[in-house]
Amino acid sequence: MPDVGRFFNIDPLSEKYAYQSHYNFSENRVVNARELEGLEAVPINGNECDIQWKVKINNNLGADYSKTLLSDTSKILSQNGVTINVVEDANATFTVNLENPKVDLKNMQLINGESAMDGDTYGGAVTSKDSPRTLAHELGHKAGQDHIFDDTSKVPNTAENKDNLMNSGGNTNESLQSTTGTKLQEVQSNDMKSHINTVYQNTQKIINNEKNNNKTN
Ligand SMILES: [Zn+2]
Repeated sequence: MPDVGRFFNIDPLSEKYAYQSHYNFSENRVVNARELEGLEAVPINGNECDIQWKVKINNNLGADYSKTLLSDTSKILSQNGVTINVVEDANATFTVNLENPKVDLKNMQLINGESAMDGDTYGGAVTSKDSPRTLAHELGHKAGQDHIFDDTSKVPNTAENKDNLMNSGGNTNESLQSTTGTKLQEVQSNDMKSHINTVYQNTQKIINNEKNNNKTN
């Protein structure tokens, strides 16, 4: 109801977000956030951050995972003036599985039939041990970043980039193998931001198409 600036219907998620009013839009952030289909706010031009990535944590480690895991991961992903905040949300559609390092990477979990390399931020999952670097690396893949030793990488596979976040122990040049780097180049940061926004927009299109199909059916 634009005349009074209120929704006539109760937000479908209002019971899950009791701390919010039942009738507000985009968590009351109408200036710097977009409504994600009545779900989570996805800020795009806000001062606080460019991207807020809500994740559900599946902790299979059998021990308390570090409370600072997500903020440390966010610090790694936020470079070159692009801010990506990873926050825990029990209702998020994207899942982070914290599992034993032995099954790390091998068991990248695919939900909704989507590949972990698709850069999808709406549904899906990554598997990571309890390490901000590993989690940031896997989320980097989700945000469209290839390994620096892949042909498609925009970052050259050279000694100067050995400490890049998207390097790994699988580097095809043995002397450049490393699993500890956290650096991102500007091209990677900007690419992640636009990748996430593109995926978001495509997701919106799919949701809108489904809505229209439901109307005609
Ligand atoms: Zn990787």
